[in-house]
Amino acid sequence: MEVTLSQRLQKLPPYLFADLRRKMAAAREKGVKVITLGIGDPDSPAPDAVVAELVRAVADETDINRHRYGCDVPAEQFPNAVKSFYSRRWGVELTDDQVVTTMGSKDAIAKLPLAIMDPGDIGIAPEPGYPTYNIGHVFAGGSTYYTPLKKENDFLIDFDSIPADVREKAKILWMNYPNNPTTATATLEFFAKAVEFGRANNILIAHDSAYSENVYDGYQSPSIMQIEGAPDTAVEFFSLSKAFSMTGWRTGCVVGNPSAIKALTTVKENIDNGTLRAVQLAAAKALDSAEQVIPPVNEIYKRRRDLVVDALNKAGWNLEKPKSTIYIWAPVPEKYNTAESPSGAFATELLEKTGVVVTPGRGYGPAGEGFFRISLTYPDNVLKEAMDRIIEMK
Ligand SMILES: *Cc1c(COP(=O)(O)O)cnc(C)c1O
Repeated sequence: MEVTLSQRLQKLPPYLFADLRRKMAAAREKGVKVITLGIGDPDSPAPDAVVAELVRAVADETDINRHRYGCDVPAEQFPNAVKSFYSRRWGVELTDDQVVTTMGSKDAIAKLPLAIMDPGDIGIAPEPGYPTYNIGHVFAGGSTYYTPLKKENDFLIDFDSIPADVREKAKILWMNYPNNPTTATATLEFFAKAVEFGRANNILIAHDSAYSENVYDGYQSPSIMQIEGAPDTAVEFFSLSKAFSMTGWRTGCVVGNPSAIKALTTVKENIDNGTLRAVQLAAAKALDSAEQVIPPVNEIYKRRRDLVVDALNKAGWNLEKPKSTIYIWAPVPEKYNTAESPSGAFATELLEKTGVVVTPGRGYGPAGEGFFRISLTYPDNVLKEAMDRIIEMK
């Protein structure tokens, strides 16, 4: 038999990069050495001290709970490390009911709507943006109102543009700064506006802070929890994935509004049973050593950022260096603007002429059209060869 897909799966948007994937296979078949710069998954290993703590904890025979369900015997070290991290990093003092351990942000982003949305409800999500916000809404029976991130607004959400009927039906508004894919950053003034929008319209503000530690040139990324009254209105998703090169470990936290934290915890208790204790302990170690282990990795990304931006500028672009994230977001050259999808046409021609694969901005939403994304999670020599090929094509 073949299963019949549920309406929620049928409602998922088509995989927008499927076409590019086919073209990559065709290029490889022709003998082209394809270089993919598409995926945002750190190539650096997790810090040594974190790996050592995992190995120690998983083999610790004195810990009778080490094999048990992570939610039934949570390691208090992790929420304590989160509280200490928020205090050191942002001067924010979180209480116990303001922290929940997650299996990474993606998992929690998809689960939170199950806790607070009913069929017919709306969630607001930015586009271009991370697809999981919409997927969470759809899985909960709701739908998404997309708010565009425009260059003329510095890729910030324009709250005034969100219509009254949407505000009425919306349960949640997602935002993400430092932003994937646009690399935009937000100020505390912007976060204050977001908290006020949430309070005035009774909408939970969900800030996805996946890139807050991937920062360069002395830039410090703010937390929405620094805003007075934020825990009344907002939650923040922090993840160890990008900050500590721990994507596969599936670990992070949500902090802020206690009722939302409790609601998410209820979904988690009914579905995932929590994270392995050794992973929780290793994640606590990571947060406790953030000041030591993060800067050396950021040095690597900064070097690659400079390599890529300098090369693109040499090839005729006019880019500023992003202060944060692990991406470069650049406009496609003007000559593609007559194509039906300029970013798709540029990515296709780049692949066919040079074998270099970048992500077309259209894949992240209509407002992403006209841009492409390069990820800095590839070794310097790979990025250098890709940039040499791009310069040569020009
Ligand atoms: C990578 C990423 C995440 C997810 O990270 P997890 O590994 O699930 O913690 C969340 N949001 C954005 C915008 C991301 O780019």
